[in-house]
Amino acid sequence: ERTVQRIAAGEVVERPASVVKELIENSLDAGATRVAVSAEAGGTEGIRVRDDGVGIPPDQLEAAVAEHATSKIGDIEDLDHGVGTLGFRGEALYTVGAVSRLTVRSRPPGADAGAEITVEGGDVGDVRPAGCPEGTTAEVDDLFYNTPARKKFLKRIATEFDRINTVVTGYALANPDVAVSLEHDGRETFATEGNGDLRSAVLAVYGREVAEAMVDVEWEPDSSTTDPPVRGVSGLVSHPETTRSTREYLATYVNGRYVTASALREAVLDAYGGQLAPDRYPFAVLFVEVPPGDVDVNVHPRKLEVRFDEEPAVRDAVEEAVEEALLDHGL
Ligand code: ADP
Ligand code: MG
Repeated sequence: ERTVQRIAAGEVVERPASVVKELIENSLDAGATRVAVSAEAGGTEGIRVRDDGVGIPPDQLEAAVAEHATSKIGDIEDLDHGVGTLGFRGEALYTVGAVSRLTVRSRPPGADAGAEITVEGGDVGDVRPAGCPEGTTAEVDDLFYNTPARKKFLKRIATEFDRINTVVTGYALANPDVAVSLEHDGRETFATEGNGDLRSAVLAVYGREVAEAMVDVEWEPDSSTTDPPVRGVSGLVSHPETTRSTREYLATYVNGRYVTASALREAVLDAYGGQLAPDRYPFAVLFVEVPPGDVDVNVHPRKLEVRFDEEPAVRDAVEEAVEEALLDHGL
């Protein structure tokens, strides 16, 4: 049975970045105002996510890492509706613990003492008292130590770290009111201030040159439209001359969730018309709001790609929003 669990876990925990994603989501769910992520060797040797959220009382630590812990998603149907918080449906910690050595250490704010629990290859240990700051720290060591096939599938350390960086960046930009930091092998990659300002988060993540080249996007549907298929588009896009050679910097969010959608990417690029040099892509951080029932995440709950029921309307709104933003700045 243990082997079956390990295989299942290996399928859902694809790589270090998938672990980071789940741990950050837990921290945000816990109402954290600070989330500090650190990784060793692209996350293959160690991942640590520390937050200052509500914490886990000692008597609930075991349940938190156990199979079938409480889930926020009451019903499988919820996955198809709206783009809410999606995890492994109450099994993220357990699943991570099945393929690594996971330690969760926590102290709820105001509690005198903290406690920790370790899961090693699916074996849940005892709850022990532990000295720790308020909040929760999840540490994942030796990911895939017991699933060699999965371990072999990992890419170079630099590539695995890039994926972690993309995930952490995605959450940092979507949550400018949370101070998010990332460290690799002891060196800081970035740290946002958590002051609620998107531009300041962009500055922390992408640097001054990019931050200064960003213009505001603010689009709303015509007020006479009833039930508009797009409720709003906002964010920042870069000056057409501030570009990179990959599409990696087109960060798009639907109803607050980081997603990818070819319709969104194409709409952004179309808005620039012929202004981009060949094979150059702008920076964009765009938040699109649509009625929750209009987004289809059915590809897979944890896959990023989504589709829209009203794709042409979404495409038009995003293109118009970005075009207007560029025009407003004489670009
Ligand atoms: P889910 O997030 O779907 O509930 P997880 O396995 O990710 O499942 O987490 C299990 C439970 O452990 C959560 O529901 C939450 O109660 C608790 N938990 C996990 N991480 C944290 C955290 N960083 N802070 C507070 N509670 C946490
Ligand atoms: Mg979770």
